Amino acid sequence: MKKESYFGVDVSPLSYEEIIADLQMRMEQNEKSTIIAVNPEKVMKAEKNTELRELINSSTYQIPDGIGVLLASKLKGGSITSRVTGVDMMDRLLQFAAESGYRVFLYGAKEEVVSQAKQNIEAKYPNIHISGYENGYVQDAKLVVDKINQAKADLLFVAMGSPKQELWIQENMNKTNVRVFQGVGGSFDVFAGHVKRAPLFFRKLGIEWLYRLLKEPKRLKRQLALPKFLMRVLFSK
Ligand code: UDP
Repeated sequence: MKKESYFGVDVSPLSYEEIIADLQMRMEQNEKSTIIAVNPEKVMKAEKNTELRELINSSTYQIPDGIGVLLASKLKGGSITSRVTGVDMMDRLLQFAAESGYRVFLYGAKEEVVSQAKQNIEAKYPNIHISGYENGYVQDAKLVVDKINQAKADLLFVAMGSPKQELWIQENMNKTNVRVFQGVGGSFDVFAGHVKRAPLFFRKLGIEWLYRLLKEPKRLKRQLALPKFLMRVLFSK
């Protein structure tokens, strides 16, 4: 699979549909796959942090979460044509699991958040089989791994923030029979209805960042990573 690279950090140019088609093939061949979300902030952090960079680059799919990486690809004549956000990727995978009869496990967030997320997902996809869940404050990995194995999960979503969730996946993936792993950050909070996504207007225009900035002006410092990143991409060879 051909990847694009920004300051040594790989990004997968596949769309939601292409990732799911590829994943389905890999699942049938019993291969394990990992999905990690990439944005300008993470790219610039990984540029200086070898361990983080290797964690990202060793994943199967590095999805371009947010407008920054998409714009970088456009500036460089790359082939990324749309954003692939972590929460939408998870939603597509849930739909895929419901249609294909694959079993899902949710690990992460507070107890009331993950249990509410489970209920809401089951209401949205009546055929889905969520075979187990655990909150993200249970730290004993062996306990969680045993629970995942007992649940015979095929897909695992880990929501503990990045890179904690990806490190957990890297450490434990081979102790389970799970075939698809995605680190999903605050997505369980979104499915639980605790965090509202930006209104459709902002999402359609790809300016969720502006909505968040208006709601939470203290995000400005974090968001400055975006123009800084784009300037660097523009002036890089
Ligand atoms: N969380 C967790 N265990 C921890 C720390 C955090 O389960 O030890 C959960 C927290 O409850 C929240 C999510 O991880 O649901 C953090 O999401 P955040 O939006 O910070 O992640 P990001 O998307 O920014 O990586």
